[in-house]
Amino acid sequence: MSTFLGLPSSRHADLSVGHLAAPRDFPDAARDALRDSRLRRNLAHATSTIRAKRAAVVDEVPDWEALRAAGSAIKAEAMARLPELLEELERNVTARGGQVHWARDAAEANQTVLRLARAAGTPDAPVTEVVKVKSMATQEIGLNEALEAGGITPIETDLAELIVQLGHDQPSHILVPAIHRGRSEIREIFLREMADVDPGLTDDPRQLAEAARRYLRDKFLSARVAVSGANFAIAETGTLMVVESEGNGRMCLTLPQTLITVMGIEKVLPRWADLEVFLQLLPRSSTGERMNPYTSAWTGVTPGDGPQTVHLVLVDNGRTAALADELGRTALHCIRCSACLNVCPVYERTGGHAYGSVYPGPIGAVLTPLLTGLDGSSHNDSLPYASSLCGACFDACPVKIDIPALLVRLRAEHVERAAAARRVPTSEAVAMAAAAYVMADADRFARAGRAARLGRPLVRRGRVRLPVPPPLSGWTASRDVPTPPRETFREWWARTRGGAS
Ligand code: SF4
Repeated sequence: MSTFLGLPSSRHADLSVGHLAAPRDFPDAARDALRDSRLRRNLAHATSTIRAKRAAVVDEVPDWEALRAAGSAIKAEAMARLPELLEELERNVTARGGQVHWARDAAEANQTVLRLARAAGTPDAPVTEVVKVKSMATQEIGLNEALEAGGITPIETDLAELIVQLGHDQPSHILVPAIHRGRSEIREIFLREMADVDPGLTDDPRQLAEAARRYLRDKFLSARVAVSGANFAIAETGTLMVVESEGNGRMCLTLPQTLITVMGIEKVLPRWADLEVFLQLLPRSSTGERMNPYTSAWTGVTPGDGPQTVHLVLVDNGRTAALADELGRTALHCIRCSACLNVCPVYERTGGHAYGSVYPGPIGAVLTPLLTGLDGSSHNDSLPYASSLCGACFDACPVKIDIPALLVRLRAEHVERAAAARRVPTSEAVAMAAAAYVMADADRFARAGRAARLGRPLVRRGRVRLPVPPPLSGWTASRDVPTPPRETFREWWARTRGGAS
């Protein structure tokens, strides 16, 4: 049994491998998405349905806030002890017959999985297909593309992932990757892509699910290798866990002879008992269910039962770099429940593709730049601005990640980097410097307040009455301009309180 020990990397993720790089700035992509009324209808229907289910089941739990606090504390502990916990996990997985591999980045992880999948075949019977359990980590590293390039066909077995794969599409939601597709679109995809599908297939959800089931049955029975992610890994026992709704994951995790699990290093939890908290938080937050229909846990290899070769590929891909950032590391607490997506007004209108990265929505707007770094020139730099900062994501997050605070911090970092790189300051920077100068002195501020009164006739019902030259026009075109008051606050105070402080 060989264990390949690698080193975690403090490098950010490579934008050229995997699906962490937004191909366009968010505002451009969002503008196009907003023109698609069918997309908005599908999203509004799906997110409002999940939101209502989630709210109902969360309300049933009297100690929900205590559970959130416990989840947040366990994650904070796991991040603080990450190197030690990962080593403990490796020891326990190895002791029970599993093999652990470390991957610094997406390219290394892909090469490792490809090598392991090939090794499961023989010269006479090479492995040409692997079945896959839905996994964000494999999406992140672009594993499907790497397997295909290596001559192995990945078969997604989660219904929504299968729809995305057969539609030659990209996922647009963490939990429901095909949320942007309506039933009639799914029917068209199945009729086009599934070889033996019944031509009389309708868009009835039961018929669509049955068609997918028939398509996958042979794949499950013939596959020798499965690839999964992991929702949690328990350091003290070496146990890996996948939670899911359809049972497809259970088939992949038990039928093939070789199981390769690809997991971000942040998924480790210290103790088995920690699952008590997360197995309550996750299903209620993600699907609005009291518990997951399928919860599969495996610890190494059990002779004669299930896969006889079990691998765990631990992926860094920018996580150690995010961990080094004290506030940024809280984004690694994410359990990928997608509750923040379903309450986000920006996500609900633009959908997941506008974010470009495999991680959409509020968490994607912080996690992606943290993993890849804000380099001042990539489209990912626009992601921290993809939010109204309404705070709904913070309220919904089961592990209390303060996403608005992270967004503001990343925006500040981006502004500072951009300012340092620029030789001529922007008009906004000049305006802010002037405002800072005026506000730094009480007399100056009072004089500016009186001077603003002179502009009173120029503003009517929130609009400036004269043409405003650029770049100021860019500001006034989309905002109401408050009418300057007849008297300043100080003047009002002096008049009504006789100058008393
Ligand atoms: S940030 Fe919080 S709400 Fe959003 S997916 Fe992660 S755990 Fe869920």
